[in-house]
Amino acid sequence: MYQLTIISATIGDCFTLLVGPDEHVICVSREWLCHNFKYFDMLAQRTHEARFPDADPRCFEILLMYAFDDTLPPVDYSEVNGENKLSNNWDPFKLYQLAATLGEPEFMDRALQALRDGLARKYLSLNLGDIDEGYTRSPPKSPMRRFLSYVVAYKLICTKSDQMGWTNFEVEQLCKKHPDLGCDIVPHMRRTKRVFPTNIWDVWPDCELHSHPEDGSCPYKKLDSPSESRIREWMALGF
Ligand SMILES: [Zn+2]
Repeated sequence: MYQLTIISATIGDCFTLLVGPDEHVICVSREWLCHNFKYFDMLAQRTHEARFPDADPRCFEILLMYAFDDTLPPVDYSEVNGENKLSNNWDPFKLYQLAATLGEPEFMDRALQALRDGLARKYLSLNLGDIDEGYTRSPPKSPMRRFLSYVVAYKLICTKSDQMGWTNFEVEQLCKKHPDLGCDIVPHMRRTKRVFPTNIWDVWPDCELHSHPEDGSCPYKKLDSPSESRIREWMALGF
């Protein structure tokens, strides 16, 4: 049995998560779990355990730790024979899927941001296998799909065909497997009018890849709130 020691330290009673096909056991304080995840609020009144056979245990632990202290280990990609390989064994697509299952948009947004940061850190793009996995693990019209379809649109328009590494046949097959992908590309084509930013890492203002409504205030701005000394400086300047 795996026990997240920090979260369990204040245990009243334990809620048991059985994760993955092998039912990896994670025990977490029931009170803490219900406080941080609406998904478990009602569930924990009826039962003391829940199964997530399709989820990845490591991603579940990372999600819980993020809920505990707001930190997420960086996504560590490296390029091996033209393919992106995850070096530290946690997969942002799996985290995104888990967060979507639990109905937690903030965690979805953080997983997507971690993916983008991981790619930008190594100047990597995504290959078709990544796009396939991302579409398999994300809901229709989600910010993740907005990003993935942008990457495909960007590559189709901005990369010379002999440098793209994707044949037309492979792209067609992927669009057949995920019909939404073909539709999702269209708005990017229209919007950018064939003028794309110079790289995929600086795609848009971050809010366009957040789950909150377009005209809503950004819940993540609070992370960038000014320091007290900066506020005093502003006040001194009459703001
Ligand atoms: Zn935002």
